[in-house]
Amino acid sequence: MREKLIITIDGPAGSGKSTTAKLLAKHLTYLYLDTGAMYRAITWKAIKYEIPIEDEKRIIDLANKSVIELYNNNGQQRVLIDGIDITKEIRTIEVSKRVSSDCAILEVREALVKQQRIIGKNGGIVVEGRDVGTIVFPDADIKIYLICSIFERAKRRQTQLEKQGEKIELIELMQNIELRDQKDTTRKHSPLKKAENAIIIDTTNLTVEQQVEKILTLIEFKHTNNN
Ligand code: C5P
Repeated sequence: MREKLIITIDGPAGSGKSTTAKLLAKHLTYLYLDTGAMYRAITWKAIKYEIPIEDEKRIIDLANKSVIELYNNNGQQRVLIDGIDITKEIRTIEVSKRVSSDCAILEVREALVKQQRIIGKNGGIVVEGRDVGTIVFPDADIKIYLICSIFERAKRRQTQLEKQGEKIELIELMQNIELRDQKDTTRKHSPLKKAENAIIIDTTNLTVEQQVEKILTLIEFKHTNNN
């Protein structure tokens, strides 16, 4: 095991990846990388430039030419594209509805995965996404796969959006989450799936502290058994 670990957390939308990954990273004083935010940034820009979903060529070009920056600030991550802070804008339902189509394009994924590997190459990082344990960091030290009931996931998203002043019906969120999961698990390139050696944690009835505790126990166990 590396001294500074690479910890990957994959799972479907709203399964608790972000809250768990952020708190875990804070606890370990590791870097936190939200790969979904990178895909969302590309979608936000594509919407801004009114690029239709069908225009793959322009979306690929956009992914290759955009500069995405992620900053960790007091446990919060700020997301910038070409110098513009879009931390809040990438969480709207408009972006959520489109992102799974844009990120299914192979060249878009290749452009972002390259950047993700550079960010994580020295370890000391908690990375969350859909393919981070399978494709981005297949040799990660600890791989987690989170699952959660669809109702609980939609409720969490609703609370998150409410905090940002966006009020969306639970049923619309459940539909959006199910549709995204369906697209993410069935796409041709890097579909969402559990890495063979990932540990499943069901977060439905767990607090974020309990989730982090479980992962810390796992790290401790691995350390003890490797040394
Ligand atoms: O994690 P989040 O829900 O913000 O991710 C937004 C979307 O980005 C996902 O629904 C998925 O389509 C895509 N994504 C991906 N691969 C990742 C992270 C996110 O395809 N590693």
